[in-house]
Amino acid sequence: MSAILPTYARSDLAFERGEGVFIYTAAGERYLDFGAGVAVSSLGHGHPHLVAALREQAGKLLHTSNIYSIPGQETLAERLCANSFADMAFFCNSGAEALEGSVKVARRYQSYIGKPERYRVITFEGAFHGRTLAMIAAGNQEKHLAGFGPKVDGFDQVPLGDVEAVKAAIGPETAAILIEPIQGEGGVRHATWPFLRELRAIADENELVLIFDEVQTGMGRTGKLFAYEWAGVEPDIMALAKGLGGGFPIGAVLTTAEIGVAMTAGSHGTTFGGNPMAMAAANAVLDIVLANGFLDEVKRKALLLKQRLAEIADTNHDIIGEVRGEGLLIGLQSKVPNTQLADALQHQRLLTIAAGDNVVRLLPPLIVSEAEINEACEKINSACASLRVGPQTEGQA
Ligand code: PLP
Repeated sequence: MSAILPTYARSDLAFERGEGVFIYTAAGERYLDFGAGVAVSSLGHGHPHLVAALREQAGKLLHTSNIYSIPGQETLAERLCANSFADMAFFCNSGAEALEGSVKVARRYQSYIGKPERYRVITFEGAFHGRTLAMIAAGNQEKHLAGFGPKVDGFDQVPLGDVEAVKAAIGPETAAILIEPIQGEGGVRHATWPFLRELRAIADENELVLIFDEVQTGMGRTGKLFAYEWAGVEPDIMALAKGLGGGFPIGAVLTTAEIGVAMTAGSHGTTFGGNPMAMAAANAVLDIVLANGFLDEVKRKALLLKQRLAEIADTNHDIIGEVRGEGLLIGLQSKVPNTQLADALQHQRLLTIAAGDNVVRLLPPLIVSEAEINEACEKINSACASLRVGPQTEGQA
């Protein structure tokens, strides 16, 4: 019996090292990593700039405390704010914490403006916001809630895209609306840009706080730094994590000053959040993602991959249905059980991530090249063929 709590149905695959979009087992087997640790390794593995920044910081100082000033936090906050709607940032360690923080800031703001009765948050069916007690209530999925006692109060869920349901769910206790611009775990389900614009208008009319969960869609994943830029509306609060650290654990709550001013000393905190190592990692990631032309390249490669995938879906229409998503957050609607397709891809040594709605996600590092996209497409074709003939043959290393 493993000494690890069995919270994951883990594969036996174990990796020892990575380089760019490739990741290797101890035996030297090479896999093309189109899962990127679930949209985390945005710069791929072993990116020299990120590794150098971490090495340098590790040699200087691993940790202090938020009771002192942390220069890397100031720099990162300023850069994130300069490149977004936000004026202020709070740093934490994960996506779930960033969402918890976001909801706390929204509630605190309502209290600050004299409406302490407002604490409820409207969320959307199929959402995933993390695994803390409050965030499993926000996501409202039975498989995440089962066995954990009474659901944390304060979340009202409505169907994705249903404007009238949102309006009907608003009551005197409603504080905020929380949404992923594109649901990742839910199966690459687009909230649609017009719907996000409707939510902005509804939030404004009702003095509600609009929170975007860009834990998965943020940091260039969709070809823009933040997915909300596609919609042409801005949130009041945004949660970030995953790609922000390029593999180093970090989360962030970004907010406008109008809302952020409600948070005062002692109102929220974390021991590790914003620690010098995480700040060095995220600043290094930003150096690359904000470099001239980087996001244009992401868009160009995403288009190429989408075109190739559309062709593959056409020739393998018995296995792959719709190809959807934005930028390098792509979902293949599987016509066989998605775990079967993901297994067949893994057999070809292409790593992908299964998601809700019977989707297989392709989330390659943002630095993926055309040649690597072509290699992935060949592997997808081979995986489809292997599913048709039955027993699988070993892929090429
Ligand atoms: N929000 C979204 C949109 C996510 O995709 C995830 C993780 O998959 C989370 C929140 C939770 O992040 P974490 O696992 O870092 O707590």
